[in-house]
Amino acid sequence: MKVGYIGLGIMGRACAANVLRAGHTLFLYARRPDTVSDLLAQGAQLCASPAELAAQVEVVVTNVSDTPDVEQVLLGEHGVIHGAHPGLVAVDMSTIKPLAAKAMAAQLAIAGVDFLDAPVSGGEVGAINGTLTIMVGGKAEALERVRPVLQAMGKTITHIGESGAGQVAKACNQIVVAVSIEAVAEAMKFARACEVDPAKVREALLGGFAGSRILDVHGQRMIDDNFVPGFKARLHQKDMGIVAETAEALGIHLEAASHAAALIDALVAQGDGELDSSAIARLIAQRNTRPAGVA
Ligand code: NAP
Repeated sequence: MKVGYIGLGIMGRACAANVLRAGHTLFLYARRPDTVSDLLAQGAQLCASPAELAAQVEVVVTNVSDTPDVEQVLLGEHGVIHGAHPGLVAVDMSTIKPLAAKAMAAQLAIAGVDFLDAPVSGGEVGAINGTLTIMVGGKAEALERVRPVLQAMGKTITHIGESGAGQVAKACNQIVVAVSIEAVAEAMKFARACEVDPAKVREALLGGFAGSRILDVHGQRMIDDNFVPGFKARLHQKDMGIVAETAEALGIHLEAASHAAALIDALVAQGDGELDSSAIARLIAQRNTRPAGVA
């Protein structure tokens, strides 16, 4: 298929490379074109605006940062909507507000464009390996049209429901991830404080009921004190903001998610927003350091 890709950061760059590798024709828009020279060298073509890109392709994939960024590239002055044509499908893989996804789907439908919210889980490793989990909201028929493109990027592709449902599933994912990071960080800190090797604890727990991807991947990061992203804390803060805003609108209170979100807020506030969000462990360690001279 002719595929356009917008948003070529940690996730988008790897996904776009897999789209190319699967044999699709790839068009790119990047606001900093110097960042995509490797993909251009592999045969991708550069467009001057999202509108110009949209006019040439059957499917546009966006993988930018936050809700206003998706709105800008899809509906802004030189946005995708200005290159709309019948049959075009816009697939947004960014993590954004469910209600905003729903609203954009309605606006794009007027221009004859099918919009799918298709946020992902699996991180940078999943993006590189083409094994992402993709949670899709929107028309099932539109998903079937673009499935070959999604299959180049992900292994588990689930149609969750109508527009916005994919983003709801992703918000659920981020609740589980944030709370699990906090739990693993506390367990690692507890082991250290008891003068027990946290690496041995991780190894043992991985075989039992507490085993998880978070314990596996982030537990190892915590042991190595390696918080190179990965998934930046400022993006996780954005996602927990989406969770909080949605929960508040629904009148529900999420105790553990609120606590984990406060830790991520503190991490970002101390200037660590570019670290991987598993650096919550560093914050917990800092808060539990005994003052000098105290036994
Ligand atoms: P990233 O490394 O910061 O990359 C974002 C990319 O989008 C950059 O290339 C950026 O361009 C571009 N961009 C942002 N706003 C734009 C705009 N208004 N117009 C044009 N381009 C714009 O972020 P990422 O980690 O790839 O994450 C992308 C999305 O996936 C986010 O919504 C994130 O929450 C989600 N996600 C990330 C992960 C992960 O593990 N990293 C996992 C699951 C989901 P510049 O380089 O010019 O800034």
